[in-house]
Amino acid sequence: MSYYFKNLEHVYIHWPFCPYKCNYCDFVAIASHENFMQQYHTSLCQEMINFDQNFDINRPLKTLYIGGGTPSTYPLDLLPDMFATLRKLVPFDDQTEVTFEVNPGTVADGALELWKDLGINRLSIGVQSLKDSVLQGLNRHQTQIDVIHLLQKTKSIFTNVSVDFIIGLPGVSVDEWKAMIIQAMSWPITHISVYFLMVHEKTPLYFKVKQKSVILPPDDQSIDLYYWTVETLGSYGFYRYELSNFAKKGFESRHNQAYWDRKSYKGFGLGACSFNGRFRFQNNKNLRNYFTAVANQEGLLHEVEEITAQQVSIEKIMLGLRQAQGVDVENVLQDFSLAQQQYFKEKADWLERQGLIKQEHGRLFLTPQGYVVENEVAVNLFPE
Ligand code: SF4
Repeated sequence: MSYYFKNLEHVYIHWPFCPYKCNYCDFVAIASHENFMQQYHTSLCQEMINFDQNFDINRPLKTLYIGGGTPSTYPLDLLPDMFATLRKLVPFDDQTEVTFEVNPGTVADGALELWKDLGINRLSIGVQSLKDSVLQGLNRHQTQIDVIHLLQKTKSIFTNVSVDFIIGLPGVSVDEWKAMIIQAMSWPITHISVYFLMVHEKTPLYFKVKQKSVILPPDDQSIDLYYWTVETLGSYGFYRYELSNFAKKGFESRHNQAYWDRKSYKGFGLGACSFNGRFRFQNNKNLRNYFTAVANQEGLLHEVEEITAQQVSIEKIMLGLRQAQGVDVENVLQDFSLAQQQYFKEKADWLERQGLIKQEHGRLFLTPQGYVVENEVAVNLFPE
């Protein structure tokens, strides 16, 4: 009963298949396994059917996010069945935000129209870079032309379109980055995410960096480019509402906002994560084990973590700091003892004197200088 969900307002669906494996990727993603797509689809739907809990099904879904992997490779003859299965579990209404991740170069003829008919109303396009040689070096098989063609096609069908870029990719000069961002500002988009490159252990990129066959740009350069990007995007009307996320007013990602506000969400699919307010759990990450677990209705969970009171406070501080709306100080202090409250207030005053945060109307915000040392600020605020 601990894994009970009171309601189902935010759902994540994982589609793990990719046509290639980018060499920086540490997501639950599988390349060259198209022959398992049909079986995966059947298991995914079965997992939803098995998820039979006594929550209030009359409340429509607020957000659905279909991520991957590369969801744009979901076969068009199977996708309607997946949506029908989910709609039987929880209704959608015209306010439900339905995001679908798309990689350029993977969109079949007629796909955009079908996605729209199914209720998808937001696309998140993985651009990452517009420099073809850099993408090829990362084993990402897409080109600038793929991106442009896709955006031309989406224009008349979707009004809410987001694009992702990665800052700090090897081989992208300062001028090239600036030109890419300026170019993106001419696109029909409402949202842009800019992530710093993370070099995850055991990825091919990690070994190349270690062997020095790939040289990353210096951190200082990436940080300067981040500041430049924040300012430039702001001047085009894309305001920063979270560390890596910029939107035109009213086009913020409501699904991600639910994560940052620590709302409960249910994930379906390989390696998908869920949170019910008290426990976080993750589904099995091995494809064969996932199939068996769904079929047997046993052993689906790979990891279960109970969130302690201390973690709740850490999450409130860290997630709040990343957002433009900042940390609700009262909300954090209510979890602390008197001594911890005192510690927090003193540290907040000290960080403000360092120019890293500002405090206003009961909220605490990162300053531009604080944004790039967000982790250190959060660690400082948390009582020992
Ligand atoms: S397309 Fe995305 S999920 Fe797939 S391998 Fe590349 S980075 Fe990973």
